Amino acid sequence: MALDHFKSHVVWLILVGTPEEALKLLAENYQVDIPALKVGMPKKNKLKAYGCYTAKNQTIYVRNSDILVNPLVILHEFYHHLRSRAVDRVHRGTENKADQFAMDFILQYQMALKETHQKDQKSSS
Ligand SMILES: [Zn+2]
Repeated sequence: MALDHFKSHVVWLILVGTPEEALKLLAENYQVDIPALKVGMPKKNKLKAYGCYTAKNQTIYVRNSDILVNPLVILHEFYHHLRSRAVDRVHRGTENKADQFAMDFILQYQMALKETHQKDQKSSS
C-alpha cells in the first residue's frame, strides 16, 4: 500500500483542530460541496451517536467540541455527505463503508507517522 499524502494530511488537519480546512480539502478532492460543521446534535437524534449527517442542509453535526478533533467521526460523516447524492438514500448498510472510508485515512496517517519516525532515526545515527 503506497502512502497517500492527501489522506494523511487530512487526518492531521483534523487532529490539530482545523476540521473546516480538512472538509474543504476533502470537498475539493471529491468535487462535492463543502459540508457545514456544527457542534451540538439535532433534537431528533439518537442518544449515543458522536456525530450525524443531514443531507437536507448538508451539515455534519458533532456531539461536542471534543469530537471536532476526532478524525474517525469527521471522516465517517463526510462519507455520508459524499454518498448523499447517490440514489440509495438509505442510511443502513452504508455504516460499514463509512467506517472503512475513515479507517483508510487513519491508516495512511499512521503510515506517514512511521515514515517520518524512520527518517528521524536515520538522520540521528
Ligand atoms: Zn454513519
